[in-house]
Formats: sequence, C-alpha cells, structure tokens
Amino acid sequence: MPKRGIAGLSPYETLVQRLTSLDSSVTLDILTEIAGYPIYLASLNTTYDYPIIWLNAGTHGDEPATVETAMRILEQPHRCDGIRVLVTPCLNGQGYDAGQRENAQDVDINWAFRRDDIPEIMLVKEMIERGPYAAIIDLHEDWESPGYYLYEQVRARGSLGGRITDRVRSVCPVNDSPVIEGEKADRGVIHPNMAVARRNNGDGVPGEVFRRATDHQITAESPAGLSMEARVNAHLTAIDILVETYRA
Ligand SMILES: [Zn+2]
Repeated sequence: MPKRGIAGLSPYETLVQRLTSLDSSVTLDILTEIAGYPIYLASLNTTYDYPIIWLNAGTHGDEPATVETAMRILEQPHRCDGIRVLVTPCLNGQGYDAGQRENAQDVDINWAFRRDDIPEIMLVKEMIERGPYAAIIDLHEDWESPGYYLYEQVRARGSLGGRITDRVRSVCPVNDSPVIEGEKADRGVIHPNMAVARRNNGDGVPGEVFRRATDHQITAESPAGLSMEARVNAHLTAIDILVETYRA
C-alpha cells in the first residue's frame, strides 16, 4: 500500500494532481495505463518546429528527485524556450507509489529492453517512434554515490559531460572518483562501454535509445543521500545545458 500524505493522496495521486494543474503551455497526454496507473507525456512548445529533447524520469520508483525535476521543468516552461521538450515525468507509477525500484512485475525496466511483456518498455518504444531527438536525458539517483555523475553517449558532436559536471559543482557535489560503478570516470563523466553494461545487466534502455533515436544520450545520477534541493538543482543544471546547446 502506498504511503498517503496529509490530503489522503498517494505520492502518484499527488503527482497527477500537479500534472493536471499545469498551465496551458503544457500539452498533457495519457500514453497508456499500467497496473492501474495512467502514465503521462507532458510536452512543451509542441506547436513549434524546434529541435526536440526527451526528458525521462521515474523509471526507478525509489528515485524521487528525478520526478521532482521533471515537474520543475514543466512548472517553469520558459526555461525551455526555443526547444520542444517531451517529458515522461514518471514512467513507473506503481514503483513510485510503492517506493520501489522495479515495476509492478518486479522487473528493472531499465535493463529489460528485449522483453516484449513489459508495458513500460512498449511505452519507451513508442517514445522512440516520436523521435529522432536532438538529445535524450534520463534521470536517475544513486544511493551509494557521494556526488553527482553522468553517463554520456554521443556521436558526431562534442561531449557536454564535463561542462555539465563543472556547473553542477556550484549546486551539488560531484563524484570525482576515477572509477564509478566499475567504469572509468573523468570528473564525474562516464563514457560507458555498452558491451560491458549489456553483459552485466542485459539489454538496456540507454544503449537502445542511443542506437535508435538520438545522437546524444545522457543518463544522469544524483546522490540520493543529499538534500532534495541539491539533487533537483543538479538535474536541472544538466537540462539547462542541453537546452542552451540545442535550442533553435
Ligand atoms: Zn535509476
């Protein structure tokens, strides 16, 4: 049973209330319903022919700063002037209510891309069809990391990872370890070896969306042990830099 807040609403019900209260600059669609939870797509600047960024949050239900960041973007739409942004603010509604990483089938969505029985993966595939995207950023949290870090996959243009972590330092500590999660890292930036990731975890959403829908994919990890504000500000910093880079 989800924890209920003072208004008697579950965390996801509170989120839905916030989504449905957004002003008319946000286009709100329900993509599908999973385990009884409506899964939303919220879009900014849909009527403009701008480059598109896909911002995904809440793949893992126990990473609340990701969902909060998505909501801040939607509540401050001018932050994204000059770019179309498709936001999936909470991919795993049931997990978010339960405070658990996995979905209702007890599956880690992020590493289940090849399975055809995972509704969240069907939704990821639908989002891939809406591309291609100038960039895709997927927000996560790490309970063991002392600081912010990110994975970056990029082709045909410069890396932005170092610029992001340099600016994040003013709002949130960065994990400067030379090795993070078994991968070589430089100033909080990992350019992942997807073959290793696949061997360890199966076929992942990050590698597949990079292969199919964008030339620039970032998986951002905030340090879950720090304050919500620091974590949200770190995620917002990365999004700001992507918008600055890709806006029309
Ligand atoms: Zn995660």
